[in-house]
Amino acid sequence: MHELSLAMSVAEIVASELDKRPGASLREVTVKVGRLAGVELDTFEAALATVLEADYPGCGVKGVIESVEAQAECLDCGARFVPPGRFPACPECGSAACMLTGGTEFRVASITLDRPEGSGENGEGDHPRQ
Ligand SMILES: [Zn+2]
Repeated sequence: MHELSLAMSVAEIVASELDKRPGASLREVTVKVGRLAGVELDTFEAALATVLEADYPGCGVKGVIESVEAQAECLDCGARFVPPGRFPACPECGSAACMLTGGTEFRVASITLDRPEGSGENGEGDHPRQ
Protein backbone atom coordinates (compact mmCIF):
# COMPACT_ATOMS: atom_id res chain seq x y z
CA MET A 1 0.00 0.00 0.00
CA HIS A 2 1.24 3.43 -1.06
CA GLU A 3 0.34 5.20 2.18
CA LEU A 4 2.02 2.56 4.31
CA SER A 5 5.32 2.88 2.46
CA LEU A 6 5.08 6.68 2.84
CA ALA A 7 4.52 6.23 6.58
CA MET A 8 7.55 3.96 6.76
CA SER A 9 9.71 6.51 4.96
CA VAL A 10 8.58 9.10 7.51
CA ALA A 11 9.54 6.70 10.29
CA GLU A 12 13.01 6.32 8.75
CA ILE A 13 13.53 10.08 8.75
CA VAL A 14 12.39 10.22 12.37
CA ALA A 15 14.69 7.34 13.35
CA SER A 16 17.72 9.04 11.81
CA GLU A 17 16.90 12.24 13.73
CA LEU A 18 16.58 10.26 16.96
CA ASP A 19 19.96 8.66 16.26
CA LYS A 20 21.54 12.12 16.44
CA ARG A 21 20.00 12.74 19.87
CA PRO A 22 20.76 9.80 22.12
CA GLY A 23 18.43 9.51 25.07
CA ALA A 24 15.74 11.71 23.61
CA SER A 25 12.31 10.22 23.18
CA LEU A 26 9.84 10.92 20.45
CA ARG A 27 6.63 12.85 21.18
CA GLU A 28 5.20 14.02 17.91
CA VAL A 29 5.80 14.01 14.18
CA THR A 30 4.21 16.54 11.84
CA VAL A 31 3.99 15.79 8.15
CA LYS A 32 2.89 18.31 5.54
CA VAL A 33 0.90 16.76 2.74
CA GLY A 34 -0.20 18.73 -0.29
CA ARG A 35 -3.74 18.29 -1.59
CA LEU A 36 -2.34 17.09 -4.89
CA ALA A 37 0.37 14.85 -3.47
CA GLY A 38 -1.74 11.81 -4.29
CA VAL A 39 -1.95 10.78 -0.67
CA GLU A 40 -5.17 9.57 0.90
CA LEU A 41 -5.05 11.54 4.18
CA ASP A 42 -7.20 9.25 6.31
CA THR A 43 -5.34 6.18 5.13
CA PHE A 44 -1.99 7.84 5.62
CA GLU A 45 -2.87 9.06 9.11
CA ALA A 46 -3.88 5.52 10.12
CA ALA A 47 -0.74 4.06 8.52
CA LEU A 48 1.48 6.59 10.28
CA ALA A 49 -0.13 5.83 13.64
CA THR A 50 0.41 2.10 13.06
CA VAL A 51 4.07 2.52 12.07
CA LEU A 52 4.83 4.88 14.99
CA GLU A 53 3.18 2.52 17.47
CA ALA A 54 5.18 -0.41 16.03
CA ASP A 55 8.48 1.49 16.21
CA TYR A 56 7.86 3.18 19.57
CA PRO A 57 5.41 0.92 21.39
CA GLY A 58 3.61 2.41 24.35
CA CYS A 59 5.16 5.86 23.86
CA GLY A 60 1.95 7.44 22.61
CA VAL A 61 3.75 9.18 19.77
CA LYS A 62 1.42 11.46 17.87
CA GLY A 63 1.42 11.62 14.09
CA VAL A 64 0.07 14.97 12.93
CA ILE A 65 -0.93 15.52 9.31
CA GLU A 66 -1.08 19.05 7.93
CA SER A 67 -2.94 19.34 4.70
CA VAL A 68 -1.53 22.00 2.35
CA GLU A 69 -3.88 23.70 -0.07
CA ALA A 70 -3.03 23.50 -3.76
CA GLN A 71 -1.90 26.61 -5.64
CA ALA A 72 -1.42 27.25 -9.34
CA GLU A 73 -0.31 30.17 -11.48
CA CYS A 74 -1.18 30.85 -15.10
CA LEU A 75 1.94 31.40 -17.21
CA ASP A 76 -0.03 33.37 -19.80
CA CYS A 77 -1.99 35.89 -17.73
CA GLY A 78 -0.46 35.48 -14.29
CA ALA A 79 -3.70 34.54 -12.55
CA ARG A 80 -3.31 32.62 -9.31
CA PHE A 81 -5.95 30.12 -8.39
CA VAL A 82 -6.72 26.92 -6.53
CA PRO A 83 -6.44 24.14 -9.09
CA PRO A 84 -8.87 21.25 -9.04
CA GLY A 85 -6.21 18.81 -10.18
CA ARG A 86 -2.63 18.38 -11.27
CA PHE A 87 -3.21 19.74 -14.77
CA PRO A 88 -5.48 22.72 -14.35
CA ALA A 89 -6.66 25.18 -16.96
CA CYS A 90 -6.66 28.89 -16.11
CA PRO A 91 -10.08 30.06 -14.90
CA GLU A 92 -9.30 33.59 -16.23
CA CYS A 93 -8.07 32.99 -19.76
CA GLY A 94 -8.51 29.26 -20.30
CA SER A 95 -4.83 28.65 -20.92
CA ALA A 96 -3.46 25.21 -20.13
CA ALA A 97 -0.01 26.70 -19.51
CA CYS A 98 -0.36 26.66 -15.75
CA MET A 99 2.24 25.86 -13.18
CA LEU A 100 1.52 24.25 -9.84
CA THR A 101 3.14 26.37 -7.14
CA GLY A 102 1.94 24.36 -4.16
CA GLY A 103 0.02 21.34 -3.10
CA THR A 104 2.33 18.56 -4.27
CA GLU A 105 4.62 18.58 -1.23
CA PHE A 106 5.11 15.67 1.05
CA ARG A 107 7.63 16.20 3.80
CA VAL A 108 8.31 15.90 7.50
CA ALA A 109 7.69 19.41 8.84
CA SER A 110 8.70 18.89 12.46
CA ILE A 111 9.75 16.28 14.95
CA THR A 112 9.10 16.91 18.64
CA LEU A 113 11.39 15.18 21.12
CA ASP A 114 11.58 14.94 24.87
CA ARG A 115 14.96 15.83 26.25
CA PRO A 116 16.57 13.13 28.40
CA GLU A 117 17.37 15.60 31.20
CA GLY A 118 13.67 16.36 31.61
CA SER A 119 13.27 13.86 34.44
CA GLY A 120 10.71 16.15 36.03
CA GLU A 121 8.06 15.07 33.62
CA ASN A 122 4.75 16.80 33.95
CA GLY A 123 1.37 15.36 33.14
CA GLU A 124 0.29 12.35 31.09
CA GLY A 125 2.13 10.03 33.46
CA ASP A 126 0.80 6.85 31.98
CA HIS A 127 4.23 5.48 31.24
CA PRO A 128 6.59 6.14 34.13
CA ARG A 129 10.20 5.61 33.15
CA GLN A 130 13.12 4.41 35.25
ZN1 LIG B 1 -4.59 32.69 -17.57
